[in-house]
Amino acid sequence: MALTAVSKTQPEAAVDAALARGQRRFGENRVQEAASRWAGPRGATPGLELRLIGPLQTNKAVEAVNLFDVIETVDRPGLVEALDRAAQKTGRSPRLLVQVNTGEEPQKAGVAPREADALVAACRSLGLPVEGLMAIPPVDEAAGPHFALLARIAARNGLATLSMGMSEDFALAVRFGATHVRLGTAIFGVRDEAVTTT
Ligand SMILES: *Cc1c(COP(=O)(O)O)cnc(C)c1O
Repeated sequence: MALTAVSKTQPEAAVDAALARGQRRFGENRVQEAASRWAGPRGATPGLELRLIGPLQTNKAVEAVNLFDVIETVDRPGLVEALDRAAQKTGRSPRLLVQVNTGEEPQKAGVAPREADALVAACRSLGLPVEGLMAIPPVDEAAGPHFALLARIAARNGLATLSMGMSEDFALAVRFGATHVRLGTAIFGVRDEAVTTT
């Protein structure tokens, strides 16, 4: 089970303290913010793994493939095509997770559960390295059924990585088979700014 430290909106000092303690896997939800934080010497830290956990616009695909080792938020065919073009242009091909909107919430990113298999197949048909699924359960529902659904979709597609579980529900996510939990508040304390998790 791997821990992704969600460093979005955290002060630089907090990120440096985590690096000093040996944390190497970080999650960011905005390409621009991540680029400025990880551009300098910090980004050259040996063993660093940067994961995009926020929505990605197609016009930022090139920047994203240059910056991130893993993109967890692949959620539509147009983005798959943009990532393929970006990979050809840059020669870099981050590992991909398909984000599934398990609660089918209109305001939330992610592919509908019934469309997940096709999106995984679209990645594979282009030779893109899709390795798992990611989800953010609805805040007002029990998370267990959402974690179970994500695990079922991963199993039937032969995908090994399950990024699920945040500060509030990571222990439950681990019981449902999470391979990666994404923790912000639990590691760094409460964030300053209000940040959406869609
Ligand atoms: C902010 C965020 C997290 C971390 O949330 P916490 O509740 O602070 O642990 C995890 N995943 C995603 C996608 C996020 O945007």
